[in-house]
Amino acid sequence: MLKNYPPKIAKRENLPAYQLAGLQWTVRHAFEHSPFYRERLTSAGIGPDDISSLDDLRRLPFITADDLAAGYPFALRAADFGDLVRIHASSGTTGKRKVLCYTHKDIDDWQNMFARCYELAGLTCQDRVQIAVGYGLWTAGIGFQQACERFGALAVPVGPGNLELQTTFLIDLQSTVFCCTASMGLLLAEEVQRRGLRDKLSLKKIILGAERSSRAMLDTMRDYLGIEEIYDITGLTEVYGPGTGLSCRENNGIHYWADYYILEVLDPLTLEPVAPGEIGEMVFTTLCKEGAPLIRYRSRDLTRLMEGECPCGCFLPRHDRILGRSDDVIIFRGVNIYPGQVDEVLHRVQGIGSEYQLLLDHAPDGRDGMLVRVERVRSGDTQPDEQVVKQIVAGIKHTMLVSCSVELLEPGTLPRSEGKTKRIFDKRSFE
Ligand code: ZN
Repeated sequence: MLKNYPPKIAKRENLPAYQLAGLQWTVRHAFEHSPFYRERLTSAGIGPDDISSLDDLRRLPFITADDLAAGYPFALRAADFGDLVRIHASSGTTGKRKVLCYTHKDIDDWQNMFARCYELAGLTCQDRVQIAVGYGLWTAGIGFQQACERFGALAVPVGPGNLELQTTFLIDLQSTVFCCTASMGLLLAEEVQRRGLRDKLSLKKIILGAERSSRAMLDTMRDYLGIEEIYDITGLTEVYGPGTGLSCRENNGIHYWADYYILEVLDPLTLEPVAPGEIGEMVFTTLCKEGAPLIRYRSRDLTRLMEGECPCGCFLPRHDRILGRSDDVIIFRGVNIYPGQVDEVLHRVQGIGSEYQLLLDHAPDGRDGMLVRVERVRSGDTQPDEQVVKQIVAGIKHTMLVSCSVELLEPGTLPRSEGKTKRIFDKRSFE
């Protein structure tokens, strides 16, 4: 199925040997070209000759965003400046941006990975790809665009926001693919619905990046835009950028490019692997990255690995959608709550919209209280409000083992944004 950008191995069984060779190369490359890594590896008592099996990965020390901040701006640099051709930066946690540098080969590898995403999403050279994500220091815009050009489709680089121009170009240029954040996709869908433009569009696919999307948001986009397929693309600036994995047409997990990096899913507290299918933190080790290689980089993103073969025919392994950040895990009445779980619960309830807010506060009785605010949607739905509330309360109780109260709002009440929408408001910390 992946003819132009196939996996670098002929079959899944060959993956471990391929990854081991990449791990050995990476450890040697980092040791020899990066003072940061040489110091780290030496402190851990590991040299380039000590990696003889994939299990040796577990002996390697972790790195985090704090290491990027401490060594700002070129913390992980493992190539001469003469061999570097670009930097990208994303916002860091401590005020300093995370800066990552790329060689020509890194850019080339990234484009091939990303082009593989377009191929898996079923694009052809006839497609017109409207890119509505950020340009500049961000990896998003240039990532989508360069890979589109490499793939051979037509790039329409509008950039983020600007709903008016987006809809104008969707109509005038007859774009067939739209690349955006989930929030932007929702805004566009609601705009197209409001202005009755659906029949003027030729849009077939949406590729969503950079933000966790709820199933309800996807349903709204499908419905209002009349599109057939929505894909989730994954990627962090630290791991090249977007384009390092994609959900396939089966819409059951995200295939990730394990011939370019190793993904571990670890318990964020113990840093031991979680049981198969359990939620854990994504930890990345690259296999051929030159400018800023990653060895056990803790991303803070949460997901779970998925077992088994995918019916789509792609044998590269899968992980679940991003289920939140390990920093976002809320401890509520002693239970770990992942934001992604709330999306899952609300999706199963009929008669509500895609937007919600979760408010956590101290209740008058001194216990922690949870309030779910969600918009009531009445098209074709005759359930009484009490029934809707009851379903939400029962779903939250069943999935997260906590009680909540529910407030139903009129459609369009909750704020929308073109970037990432804040949905969880924890007021307990301000007491
Ligand atoms: Zn698949």
